[in-house]
Amino acid sequence: STWWRSVEPAAKDPILGVTEAFLADPSPDKVNVGVGAYRDDNGKPVVLDCVREAERRIAGNLNMEYLPMGGSIKMVEETLKLAYGENSEFIRDKRIAAVQSLSGTGACRLFADFQKRFCPDSQIYIPVPTWANHHNIWRDAQVPQRTFHYYHAESRGLDFAALMDDIKNAPDGSFFLLHACAHNPTGVDPSEEQWREISFQFKAKGHFAFFDMAYQGFASGDPEKDAKAIRIFLEDGHHIGIAQSYAKNMGLYGQRVGCLSVLCEDEKQAVAVKSQLQQLARPMYSNPPVHGAVIVSTILGDPELKKLWLKEVKVMADRIIGMRTALRENLEKLGSPLSWEHITNQIGMFCYSGLTPEQVDRLTNEFHIYLTRNGRISMAGVTTGNVGYLANAIHEVSK
Ligand code: PMP
Repeated sequence: STWWRSVEPAAKDPILGVTEAFLADPSPDKVNVGVGAYRDDNGKPVVLDCVREAERRIAGNLNMEYLPMGGSIKMVEETLKLAYGENSEFIRDKRIAAVQSLSGTGACRLFADFQKRFCPDSQIYIPVPTWANHHNIWRDAQVPQRTFHYYHAESRGLDFAALMDDIKNAPDGSFFLLHACAHNPTGVDPSEEQWREISFQFKAKGHFAFFDMAYQGFASGDPEKDAKAIRIFLEDGHHIGIAQSYAKNMGLYGQRVGCLSVLCEDEKQAVAVKSQLQQLARPMYSNPPVHGAVIVSTILGDPELKKLWLKEVKVMADRIIGMRTALRENLEKLGSPLSWEHITNQIGMFCYSGLTPEQVDRLTNEFHIYLTRNGRISMAGVTTGNVGYLANAIHEVSK
């Protein structure tokens, strides 16, 4: 029509584009290590047993009424326990403003909109590199972005010194986006000691820490351990924000279940903040979807099902850890003279391989192996069946 003549096609999403290309490739050898979704050792998507059981219990008992604007109260309650701790004083004192969100992405976006509305002149500091969508989210919320150093290319680890400098040099009271665990795309997390130093410096500068926790449980296999960074900040008295997601750790990708929470000074402030978060949600999507939230509250509200969930999270994390070892050993066996230690040092779903965009192009064009051009390998796509093929291909293009 005449209305949309000036509309040009949008740039392809760098991550979702990889899957499109993979699906279009007819080769029987093809491997998809681009997508950030868990696969079993046969390369198949997984629905957790605890989820299947929860669905059985829900079936027939669920009406389709709207949830409240802030989502399922029971789900939010259980979700806060995972992040802030089972016996958190902040939960007890009702100091947390929390709403159900459209998974982790929706939590980040709602926070970005909240930040814009109530701190209109603020900026957000984002690590280099980060999940590409972080940039889109804060851009669309019209919050100006700054970056801080994070990854050290040479060591394929954390650039701690530069990170600390950037924290010190940012204006007092700046907003920072931190990955709570299993940093995407690098698989590089600060150590506990480093988190303590980061928290200390945040305190000195009066910065606000917003934690994106998309992979709780995927780093160590234990959600409690993976909340360590958050707990350190809480101990130090920070008023933090958290985006939580059940996409990965409960395998509820398409259900879009998550939570945005903001720790406030007291209950009165928490009530006000929550009401404003709901006010932001109302004209966007009115209220969040019900089905996934009931799955989560059914699992976490039942001690047996919760135990099963924790076991299944560990199985997923352990399979990935096992594949890291296998990939590294295969590369070493092939006689690669390069160091592949970072494959096992990095944690979570991704391995930031250090492969160049040209090497990635060769993997795709010559070996039908699909990944983003930044060299990020989703370890969740690696299996007993393809790890040898993958190692050989990586060895060939990195010779
Ligand atoms: N943050 C990070 C760092 C992620 O990697 C992801 C998923 N790729 C998300 C947030 C959001 O995922 P979802 O919206 O599916 O919960």
